[in-house]
Amino acid sequence: EPLPKAQEGPKGPNIKPVTAPSKTALEIDRIRKKRELRRQQQQEIKDMNKLIDPETKDIKKYKSIIAAFVAGIPAGVSNSKKSLSEISQEAAIRVCVRKRPINEKESSLSNFDVVTCRSNASRNALMYVHEPKVKFDMSKDMEHHQFCFDNVFDETSTNEAVYSSTLKTILPQLLNQGRISFFAYGQTSSGKTHTVFGNQSNPGVYHYACKDIFKLIKNDKSLFVTVCFYEIYGGRIYDLFQNKARLQLLEDGKGDIKIMGLQEIQVGSYEDMIRLIDYGFSTRTTASTSANDESSRSHAILQISIRQGDGSIVKGKFSLIDLAGSERASDVNHTDRQRRIEGAEINKSLLALKECIRALNKRQSGAHIPFRASKLTQVLRDCFIGNNSLTVMIAAVSPASDSCDHTLNTLRYADRVKELKPEKNSKL
Ligand code: ADP
Ligand code: MG
Repeated sequence: EPLPKAQEGPKGPNIKPVTAPSKTALEIDRIRKKRELRRQQQQEIKDMNKLIDPETKDIKKYKSIIAAFVAGIPAGVSNSKKSLSEISQEAAIRVCVRKRPINEKESSLSNFDVVTCRSNASRNALMYVHEPKVKFDMSKDMEHHQFCFDNVFDETSTNEAVYSSTLKTILPQLLNQGRISFFAYGQTSSGKTHTVFGNQSNPGVYHYACKDIFKLIKNDKSLFVTVCFYEIYGGRIYDLFQNKARLQLLEDGKGDIKIMGLQEIQVGSYEDMIRLIDYGFSTRTTASTSANDESSRSHAILQISIRQGDGSIVKGKFSLIDLAGSERASDVNHTDRQRRIEGAEINKSLLALKECIRALNKRQSGAHIPFRASKLTQVLRDCFIGNNSLTVMIAAVSPASDSCDHTLNTLRYADRVKELKPEKNSKL
């Protein structure tokens, strides 16, 4: 029997080096290993896609059900936003929804778009969610849910458009004792922070609001602007202008809440204000290692006041609130005790918020409103009382099929805040 041959690699016999490998050899080896790993990962993705293949047929089926349903929605105006004049200026609250574009990660995981934005001939702003269902015989079907809101923003909408149709016209009320608040609600990664704060290339609504606030006060030298920015995390308050220093709440005899030691900074120009807010925002995301995780469990509150005289008179107050991820409210069942506590706190605050906004819509008297139920509603108490309190809520949703349950939960919450019914059009 012939002796086994010495093992030969693709580049000749495998000879062990006598001396330590050179730097170049190590580098080549590193690159080779990296390439192999990449190839292996690509193969794994291919294999996975093969497994998903039978599902792709189901996706086609679901997509055709959606297409057939959408084709059957009565034709309406192409623009899904109501014109400003159609929305009553009197309305104390305005509830809007925004769908973000589907992202690459979702598409690569065989997600498809289950959200349709439309406005019908009566100019109702409608959002449909097409929920995948499997019937008893395993055949695929869908349930189509319809919701009606004051505004519906589709995936092509910009932050500027959101600002223009929600805040722009009511902001002048800040000179008239106005208390205006803007809440972004929704599951994590649905687009709340994108809407409120945005990024370099696409600034959030805060940016347009700041610009307009400085325009508002331009002609009155007795007016000036102050800003504070803080976060509520696990029921505790942290100042984003003081490197997340923890602050205490104090309640006076009248039930007014004061945050002790909160930095309230006077700003002289729009540019200074943006710089300051961006600084506070960076504190929010860089102060911890698991930044994303933490920001999804905190409410961020930015408050801009227009003051007069020595500053003790507050003319108007504008609050922007980037709420904790709504799915965190179900962390009440989490295995980790700390998570459970935080989840319970978020759950409490989102439920209390809903009740406070509902009460504002009915212009109920203060006594019956459950401010005390959470820190969030306690610190925002003055946003809900008074005759010139105006609230905008924007519910952000992902269009992905995997997020369907969360999307339905978000829309049901928004629907409860203001129970809008679509108007029937006699012509239809
Ligand atoms: P949330 O604050 O609700 O957790 P984000 O605002 O951080 O979610 O959004 C998650 C990701 O999706 C971000 O990368 C953001 O830039 C992107 N995104 C969200 N909404 C939009 C939108 N309307 N258009 C484009 N990208 C968006
Ligand atoms: Mg966020």
